[in-house]
Amino acid sequence: MGKKYVYSFEEGKADMKGLLGGKGANLAEMTNIGLPVPTGITVTTEACNDYYAQGGKMPEGLEAEIKEKMVGLEAKIGKNFGDAANPLLLSIRSGAKFSMPGMMDTILNLGLNDQTCEAMVKATNNERFVLDCYRRFIQMFSGVVLGLEHHKFESVLDAQKEKRGVHFDTELDADDLREVVAAYKKVVKRETGNDFPEDPMQQLLLAVQAVFGSWNNQRAIVYRRLNQIPDDLGTAVNIQSMVFGNMGEDCGTGVAFTRNPSTGEKALYGEYLINAQGEDVVAGIRTPQPISKLQEEMPVIYQQFVDICKTLEQHYQNMQDIEFTIEKGKLYILQTRHGKRTANAAIKIAVEMAAEGLIDKNEAVLRVEPGALDQLLHRRIDPAAKFEVIAKGLPASPGAASGTVVFDADEAEKQGQSGQKVVLVRTETTPDDIHGIVAAQGVLTSRGGMTSHAAVVARGMGKPCVCGCEAIKINYAEKLFSVNGTVVREGDTVSIDGATGQVILGTVPMIDPELSPEFQELLGWADDIRTMAVRANADTPEDAAKAREFGAEGIGLCRTEHMFMAQDRLPVVQEMILAETLEDREAALEKLLPVQQGDFYGILKAMEGFPVYIRLLDPPLHEFLPNIEELVVEITELKCTGGDKNLIAEKEELLRKVRQLHEFNPMLGHRGCRLGVTFPEIYAMQVKAIYQATAQLVKEGVDAEPEVMIPLVIHVNELKMLREQAVEIAKAVQQEHGIDFDIHIGTMIELPRAAVTADEIATQADFFSFGTNDLTQTTLGFSRDDAEGKFLPDYINKKILTDNPFVVLDQAGVGKLVKLGTDLGRQANPALKVGICGEHGGEPSSIGFCHRIGMNYVSCSPYRVPIARLASAQAAAGGESSVSTK
Ligand code: PEP
Ligand code: MG
Repeated sequence: MGKKYVYSFEEGKADMKGLLGGKGANLAEMTNIGLPVPTGITVTTEACNDYYAQGGKMPEGLEAEIKEKMVGLEAKIGKNFGDAANPLLLSIRSGAKFSMPGMMDTILNLGLNDQTCEAMVKATNNERFVLDCYRRFIQMFSGVVLGLEHHKFESVLDAQKEKRGVHFDTELDADDLREVVAAYKKVVKRETGNDFPEDPMQQLLLAVQAVFGSWNNQRAIVYRRLNQIPDDLGTAVNIQSMVFGNMGEDCGTGVAFTRNPSTGEKALYGEYLINAQGEDVVAGIRTPQPISKLQEEMPVIYQQFVDICKTLEQHYQNMQDIEFTIEKGKLYILQTRHGKRTANAAIKIAVEMAAEGLIDKNEAVLRVEPGALDQLLHRRIDPAAKFEVIAKGLPASPGAASGTVVFDADEAEKQGQSGQKVVLVRTETTPDDIHGIVAAQGVLTSRGGMTSHAAVVARGMGKPCVCGCEAIKINYAEKLFSVNGTVVREGDTVSIDGATGQVILGTVPMIDPELSPEFQELLGWADDIRTMAVRANADTPEDAAKAREFGAEGIGLCRTEHMFMAQDRLPVVQEMILAETLEDREAALEKLLPVQQGDFYGILKAMEGFPVYIRLLDPPLHEFLPNIEELVVEITELKCTGGDKNLIAEKEELLRKVRQLHEFNPMLGHRGCRLGVTFPEIYAMQVKAIYQATAQLVKEGVDAEPEVMIPLVIHVNELKMLREQAVEIAKAVQQEHGIDFDIHIGTMIELPRAAVTADEIATQADFFSFGTNDLTQTTLGFSRDDAEGKFLPDYINKKILTDNPFVVLDQAGVGKLVKLGTDLGRQANPALKVGICGEHGGEPSSIGFCHRIGMNYVSCSPYRVPIARLASAQAAAGGESSVSTK
């Protein structure tokens, strides 16, 4: 027997998403739990994949199977496809395993032709309505299946409105629409050379192929790349009997979430339109009514809907996003899926569902995508700030953003990619604008509701969005919008607050985020589950305090070079570098010692009770000196203007030293512990400062736990030498102050040779901290600055690499070295503590890897600490929610 390509809804189940797509599986599930779902069938994703495998041909047997299933469908509904008396009309929708809202195509009212149209007129006694469906169908079909441009039809409609002297489509009567239909058909004939297909079965088969084709349209490809959805899943096609929300005032259509997708509040949240069809609500053309109003307008239907929402939430144990239609006072559920939500809402919903007993704590922790927490850990407008609000729209996606106004997605992309912060302003957005939304800081639209395209997409991306801001009048031609007499032009700066809907001229002060009580609670559950510690990369007491507030259990990387860079210290640092003799250098270091001691005192105190890994100086010394070109210009200017001779001599000496220190490739040059090897006195000063600060704190009764970290080691002998020096200094400090403290000295593993000789290095180390920034650079031979700015985007676009390896750990390459280093290190020194402090320490998939290879901790920027806590817990809990919200 050949493959089964077509399933009736009765034959499917929720766990058949791979085969039937998310939508198809849910329609089947809903049908089987007895909900009022319009009857239908689903063509499998396998059929789509076979279609592609055969170079875009309908797989063998599919046509016959569709025809056969259609017979069953007709029998169930009691209407016949193409029937001249009682015709069955269909909706055709794509539906992949993961929801891709608006990315692929939908066709409504399929089955209409001149004959069925007349039958429908008789059946509904509403000629205008049927002709409106007919003209919409021709337009949709022509766009999706025949590839004709939308505007070719819009101009026909506009011409008809002009001829009749009316403004709105709704003002056209049946006779007008009859003329529009005839004119549309002429457009089809003119553009394709063929008549519009009248045979319903031919329409259906063409539509199925078009949906297969839309799996590979540009916007679907972009969406998949952004959301890491594999390209080879294919889409299913759902063929469902039509129900009509636009047959009069007892009809309507809407979209609702069982809980608020923006805040997570447990209350129905959605919108509907009376006497409207299909995409009218989400398209944002008419601004819809809030769902609560349905309670007044249709109380019985509302109650029925509330009950169904409850059933669906219980059934799926998750917040649902439901599409419904009311046809002549009867409610139909067209679709349900796990609702997309902001990170804030995801947390609140997970915590509350656990409290309600719908899910357990483990599942609650798995429900929140760690990467999405980023949006909560971002800035918002300072509530104390005074500013003038020029307009207010719907608060569609929280967070605040400032940027210069652009009116076009391409322009947003262009400016965004060149580092400009932009706010994309559109009347409404469509899937074709997605690249502009990606590049923008936020989105502002003048039309559309909370479920319009801009709102849904921005929420998914965690970007601020204000939509339906009807007060702003956009003039694309002149690239401006006006609002109550204020004119805002392209390039002007605006701020938007997606939590309040406010639009503000200029920039506004923003403040740091705080963790909500639910967020704290969820992180508490995560802490109970995870096995790795989470630390922060922090160099100042302020950062350390922030890190603690976010739950860091120590500092995994304190970079000391930032302390050298401070403006008031730089002259002493330069004096140290320029010193010609050891005495001169030591004299300068003597001056730096108390300053460094103060730095370490501050950070160790802020992290009381937790370990602080202090890394000795890493960057090459020339980084602390002025730039060669600038110095040359300065000297030349001084000479030309007859400047002070002594000053010129001083600058020339500086220039000589800068030239002497110049390196062709500083990343691979005289840096890290190589500085400690050639100038042992520099590291000696730092180590002394660390332990003197410790002694000071111990005397004050503060539990200070410094650990000294030696960077860029390639050979055990380097570490041995530097370790001996450090231990000697530590002991001297202990003796001098007559106190005791633990001495822990470890190293960064950030070069391939260190990883492959980790067993030797581990004999001299109390801990390893994988510096995966440098390890990625040196394993791939990519200098990050050059790669990201030049060729790395090509590597990703051409799919040579799936991700930027500086952001997402290259597990197969760099990861192999990390695992090897960890295993070798532990073999030689079972007490060795192992962690990571490269940027990957805050990236969820990389954290999962660190957990799997048995690291003791991850360390990341303070703002990513909550992400790391959650990601480590998810790794420990098995990594995947039983109910994915992707
Ligand atoms: C690393 O290389 O991963 C690291 C943490 O050190 P830095 O980024 O300071 O070079
Ligand atoms: Mg490094």
